[in-house]
Amino acid sequence: MSERRLLAIPGPTIFDPSVLRSLSLGHLSHTSKSFVSIFSDVLTKLKELLYVDDGYKPIVLAGSGTLAMEAGTSNFIRKGENVLVISNGVFGDRMAELLSRYPVNVDVVRIKEPGEVVDNKRIAEKLEEKEYGIVTVTHVDTSTSVRHDIKELGKIVSQHEALLIVDGVCSVAGEEIRMEDWGIDVVLTGSQKALGVPPGLAVLWLSPKAINRLSETQSKYSPYYMDLTKWIEIMNSYENLKAAYFATPAVNLIIGLHKSLELIFEEGLGNRFRRHEALSKAFRSGIHGLGLRLIAKDDKIAASTVTAVYLPEKIELGKFRQEMLDRNVVVAGGLYPPIKSKYFRVGHMGPVNANDIISVVAAIERALIKLGYEARLGNGVSRTQEVLKAFDL
Ligand SMILES: *Cc1c(COP(=O)(O)O)cnc(C)c1O
Repeated sequence: MSERRLLAIPGPTIFDPSVLRSLSLGHLSHTSKSFVSIFSDVLTKLKELLYVDDGYKPIVLAGSGTLAMEAGTSNFIRKGENVLVISNGVFGDRMAELLSRYPVNVDVVRIKEPGEVVDNKRIAEKLEEKEYGIVTVTHVDTSTSVRHDIKELGKIVSQHEALLIVDGVCSVAGEEIRMEDWGIDVVLTGSQKALGVPPGLAVLWLSPKAINRLSETQSKYSPYYMDLTKWIEIMNSYENLKAAYFATPAVNLIIGLHKSLELIFEEGLGNRFRRHEALSKAFRSGIHGLGLRLIAKDDKIAASTVTAVYLPEKIELGKFRQEMLDRNVVVAGGLYPPIKSKYFRVGHMGPVNANDIISVVAAIERALIKLGYEARLGNGVSRTQEVLKAFDL
């Protein structure tokens, strides 16, 4: 079967060929000089990615984004305390489910309808009512493609004792995050989304306040492998160009991450975030041109990394995805239970370019028209083209 298919799902994303090649660089010991220097550089670049300096600690673990969610929360738990989960969709609900396995009282603030984000004012009120040890939020909820304003949320939570923990699995390296300036204590992600590396790495960043809390909680509720106090020592060692061992790092994936970070900084962070913004606008504009509706209720909260789109009535998701596949484009189905079968999702993060966006919009047009949807061929693509031109892409 031909391998020339455009993967347009929200993770795993498409990867730059140079990143894929770097995975087969050869066999390196995790204690070799070459690997130690690569890992050290990765840790330095990870700090730059979130605009933080030396008091902050990046940690790279072998595992998926969900491991990052669990390690990035459970380590900070104090028995019996209140934790507040802000849920804008599936991944907020996952966080609530995960935390309910630990000895804490979980309060969840949920959206009322899909496509909204929880109003920060509601969170401010919650924090006035009760004392919370931890507040968690999903930056971009991949199930509905909405983005939470974490800069404003950071200002609110900073006035309290609580740690602010951000699930950035669908945003880190695709959306701007100024961890220090915005008062965020933990950011977590996985390698296979906007970081542009195959699945298998969980990445976390801890603020000085989070590290301080760690000395108090001493990873009491984190099983052995997830104990971040142990991992901080390992990261410190690699940062100082000395190998250290606790559990074998995912050597090849870390080499892939190194390559991807090189590409990220070659492009420049500002340029990278602007590219994601421009491409997502071009995609949304094409969707509007076809007369389709987005799940995100307001353009201001529409994510730059993923877009969720309602299918026209009468068009079945399974059939639509098959028609897309027949046109060599892989899109994702719905994920948010109340509307799961009524929409599809397109990921546009990492090394995506204008050609990919045009191809996806064009395939959507042809697939829908084939299935009987009434639209004029070119209505979507022409709108996409206009936006791309306006951004000089
Ligand atoms: C994908 C995703 C996760 C889960 O990551 P896995 O690598 O699938 O475990 C968590 N949160 C968000 C926002 C995601 O997009």
